[in-house]
Amino acid sequence: LGRRINAAVSDLTRAPNLDEKALDGMIREIVSALQDADVNSRLVSHLRKSIKATVNLKDLSPGINKKRLIQKTVFDELVKLVDPHAEPFRPKKGKPNVIMFVGLQGAGKTTTCTKLARHYQTRGFKACLVCADTFRAGAFDQLKQNATKARIPYFGSLTSTDPAAVAAEGVAKFRKERFEIIIVDTSGRHRQEKDLFDEMTQIQRAVRPDQTIMVLDATIGQQAEAQSKAFKETADYGAIIITKTDGHASGGGAISAVAATHTPIVFIGTGEHMLDLERFAPQPFVSKLLGMGDMQGLVEHVQALKLDKGETMKHVMEGVFTVRDLRDQLQNIMKMGPLSKMAGMIPGLGNMMGGMDDEEGSLKMKRMIYICDSMTNKELDSDGKLFVEKPERMTRVARGSGTSVREVEELLSQQKVMAGMAKKMGGMNKNMQKAQGMM
Ligand code: GDP
Ligand code: MG
Repeated sequence: LGRRINAAVSDLTRAPNLDEKALDGMIREIVSALQDADVNSRLVSHLRKSIKATVNLKDLSPGINKKRLIQKTVFDELVKLVDPHAEPFRPKKGKPNVIMFVGLQGAGKTTTCTKLARHYQTRGFKACLVCADTFRAGAFDQLKQNATKARIPYFGSLTSTDPAAVAAEGVAKFRKERFEIIIVDTSGRHRQEKDLFDEMTQIQRAVRPDQTIMVLDATIGQQAEAQSKAFKETADYGAIIITKTDGHASGGGAISAVAATHTPIVFIGTGEHMLDLERFAPQPFVSKLLGMGDMQGLVEHVQALKLDKGETMKHVMEGVFTVRDLRDQLQNIMKMGPLSKMAGMIPGLGNMMGGMDDEEGSLKMKRMIYICDSMTNKELDSDGKLFVEKPERMTRVARGSGTSVREVEELLSQQKVMAGMAKKMGGMNKNMQKAQGMM
């Protein structure tokens, strides 16, 4: 998607006469790319109007970089769509917070409820799981296995056929035991849709959740809108978790679901492993969707300036990008200036600094470097996973660098974006070598 949009914008800026006709052609191409990425057609037409309104060719002064302006407009509009500005639920310590999961069979509810329980557990909450899926044989076993692995207390029944009763019993037991996060997993499958929705309502009535979360599979594409709407009408959930964002799904469906239900995405699932859960952030999500940022451009720039001692380049070619690589690149960029231009070359970084002037941006980068400098060598040379496995590391680094855990998380997610791109480039590089070897 990103490549197509960038290509469309490049075509336009290269066109000999930058007129309305050329602009319309570019918008058509962007629209078709978005539709192919499962973004709902109503949203696409809204987007088309916004681009036309912002990019008024006649009024643009010649000095303005039209390519960037158009890209930025597309980016900003998508961020707006995916950010409903509704405050998501935050559990409170010292009281029971009952969270109920809804969503279709296979969406990833059972996997994700363990991930979420673990997420809160590592943040000092007393967390547990209740299995209210009495429909599918083996559902309780699956939850039990996951929960045992994560050392999370659980409740369920192998014999009951009344999910609302099991849910009520489990929640009551854990409330009494003063658990703070009680997550209720539900079934998501029935012979009839009506039965499923009836069951959901009954469980909701039985456990009175503080929060209902809809789990949505990123790979279902265009169906996301209808599905999220149908569940919203019945279960009135207050948050969405998108799973399987690690696959080939383009994420457009997720955007459509948020836009249709005005409900915030709170987390995304990034793999089958228990640790593969990330807090959702609109800007990086859209960056990824659009494939923005230009790794190749950065690499060339660093090469031209002969600032890199070779390590990063070697790493990228091998498909690796460590925290230390990010630190080195930040340092290089600080030397290169002007900052606003250079930051745009690191995928995602330009967006993170959007709206900052050069001074603020440079302060931000300095803080990122401080964060890196408070890490151990082992941490610097890692792919960042170490921090996910042991979140206390983040607290230590934040304290050591005089920054916040949030900033450390931000830096690590930046590094992860880069690592993902490096991996792609490394793969391409290997394929090229293979192809050359065959010739
Ligand atoms: P449920 O029916 O909604 O409870 O779905 P499950 O939790 O049983 O998950 C269905 C399948 O999706 C399982 O094979 C999971 O391992 C897989 N899955 C869940 N979340 C993710 C994710 O974020 N990424 C990937 N790659 N697979 C996932
Ligand atoms: Mg399940």
